[in-house]
Amino acid sequence: MQTKLLNFTDEHLQLAGELIRQGKLVAFPTETVYGLGANAFDEQAVLSTFTAKGRPSDNPLIVHIYDKSQVWQIAREVSADAQKIIDQIMPASITIVLPKRANVSDAITAGLDTVAIRMPKSAEARRFLEACQVPVTAPSANTSSRPSPTTWQRVAEDMDGKISAILCGEPCQVGIESTVLDLTHDEPLILRPGVVTPEQIESVLGKPVRVLTNPKEKVNSPGVKYKHYAPKVPMALDLSGDTAKLSGYYDTLVKQGLNPVLLVEDVSAFGGRNVHPIGTTDEQVAQNLFENLRILEQSYNYIIASYTSKTSFATSILNRLTRSASNNII
Ligand code: AMP
Ligand code: MG
Repeated sequence: MQTKLLNFTDEHLQLAGELIRQGKLVAFPTETVYGLGANAFDEQAVLSTFTAKGRPSDNPLIVHIYDKSQVWQIAREVSADAQKIIDQIMPASITIVLPKRANVSDAITAGLDTVAIRMPKSAEARRFLEACQVPVTAPSANTSSRPSPTTWQRVAEDMDGKISAILCGEPCQVGIESTVLDLTHDEPLILRPGVVTPEQIESVLGKPVRVLTNPKEKVNSPGVKYKHYAPKVPMALDLSGDTAKLSGYYDTLVKQGLNPVLLVEDVSAFGGRNVHPIGTTDEQVAQNLFENLRILEQSYNYIIASYTSKTSFATSILNRLTRSASNNII
């Protein structure tokens, strides 16, 4: 299959929308990461998403909308809490999990009775979704288990020849995936942390929000159990920023014949060793995180990342870093 590269002209947007309505796959930018779009009301199209990504079929998909009224095409109940999030936070980098309508395919929800819904903040994403006219399922547009793509070029790296088109927009501003908030119980539960923090959600809902901390806890969000965001080379994660410790770890790897790189805040602190800046603010770190992993895996065979920020947003970034490093915290 030849993958078309489309731009944000009216003509290309119309074509992208038509391809979606014909049951084809189109990748598109959002403010978080690039998504792999399919018509949510076309089961075959939805199923082909799993094939293109190599995604396990028990990992459900998020349904994307451009207009708040579309929530009712997908959800059978909208609680008072959900209505507050819809009114006061959306469009934003947040996904809400609600009871699903019967017409929402099990292929989307992995057989769950709930459905995940998101209205992206990105104007490009919403222009695309409007051109589609239907709700659009979209996981990140990468091969399963790989770091999510934050530029259209990285989408092409994983998806060229496997999907009908890539809508080529701006690099993603946020860089990590949406906050997933389960609103199907009285107690709101964050299943996946993101740029929208528990504190922001609590201030809108006026009640405490729980954050899922133990991924082994039995919850209905299968996605949290899989290997994720992993570069092609092994990775270690340090939370202390201790330069002597990091240099020592690096030197040990060199003695083993490896060619490592330090992904760190202060690149000037490591003598002649291979270094790459992780960023100096949480926003920068998140925005470049997956791109950095994809750049570094090409030239080095071990990544040592160090990140010391302790803010609420940093917790979400650490969630991704920890999984990228397959829990190898040093
Ligand atoms: P991705 O599309 O790769 O960003 O992953 C989507 C995330 O949303 C995964 O962690 C899924 O487990 C989660 N998700 C999607 N639908 C549901 C649902 N109905 N209930 C709980 N979590 C969901
Ligand atoms: Mg993903």
